[in-house]
Amino acid sequence: MRLRLSSTGLHAQNITLEDGSAAVDVAYINQQQVHRVRAKQAVMAGYNMMIPYMVPEVSEAQKEALLQNVKAPLVYSNVVIRNWQTFMKLGVHNIYCPTAPYCMVKLDFPVNMGGYEHPDSPDKPVVLHMVYVPNLAGSALPSREQSRKGRSMLLGMSFAEHEKIIREQLQDMLGGVGFNHEEDIIAITLNRWSHGYSYSVNTLFDDEDEAEAIITTARQPIGNITIANSDSDWSPYAHSAIEQGIRAVDELIAMQAGGAQ
Ligand SMILES: Cc1cc2nc3c(=O)[nH]c(=O)nc-3n(C[C@H](O)[C@H](O)[C@H](O)COP(=O)(O)OP(=O)(O)OC[C@H]3O[C@@H](n4cnc5c(N)ncnc54)[C@H](O)[C@@H]3O)c2cc1C
Repeated sequence: MRLRLSSTGLHAQNITLEDGSAAVDVAYINQQQVHRVRAKQAVMAGYNMMIPYMVPEVSEAQKEALLQNVKAPLVYSNVVIRNWQTFMKLGVHNIYCPTAPYCMVKLDFPVNMGGYEHPDSPDKPVVLHMVYVPNLAGSALPSREQSRKGRSMLLGMSFAEHEKIIREQLQDMLGGVGFNHEEDIIAITLNRWSHGYSYSVNTLFDDEDEAEAIITTARQPIGNITIANSDSDWSPYAHSAIEQGIRAVDELIAMQAGGAQ
């Protein structure tokens, strides 16, 4: 096996060799040079929505199905606060806020690791883990459209705007029990993903049987190219990534066993 790091796949294509056997040609770019590699079979394991552009031979129906996986943008913010007495007063460690920008605000997991020890007293500073899915909640737009618009909104947001949202939300939530954002927030780190979570079935917007049919169409093998990634199960979790990787390789093995070249 040869790993090609810092290489971006551009194009994959089923071909027939002179002796009649089948192969897959993959073009990739590394350090501004385009290369081509040939294999008997290939697995596309990246963002599934890109496959129609990278494997243009895919059928129109499958293209349409693949394009339905519109990832959601995601922001994880870590906010260090001076102490967590406010959480003690409220008697909570995890606050779910469905109508606020940050839908979840929680005390970070109490982990000791490599010399780092989690704060064991509410008088000590602690990290708050805050999750924000920038969409247009309440807009009545379809879920995919909300993700697209949210992504463009996120790309245009400055750190100052993010900071303002965080300060206002924490002040609104915790001000009643003595929190003062000007004194109590020590540091903020923002982690932003324009394409965060895979699309997943949302019964507010999707018919479950129809969604299942789209998923099945989207991950059909294209000749000797199979499709992995958690996207291929419309599930944004690591176990799906593993299961779908196994499925995609099993499909290749079945093709070989079935006599495909
Ligand atoms: C912020 C965040 C938090 C998460 N938290 C959790 C969690 O707590 N638990 C959980 O189970 N899951 C979590 N997930 C989801 C989990 O990370 C994904 O489901 C999982 O990583 C998907 O694995 P994958 O191999 O299918 O795809 P990916 O991890 O997306 O891997 C695809 C790889 O392909 C590469 N790639 C894409 N296009 C190309 C190309 N053209 N050429 C070459 N390489 C390419 C990418 O760089 C990437 O490395 C989280 C995701 C995010 C974004």
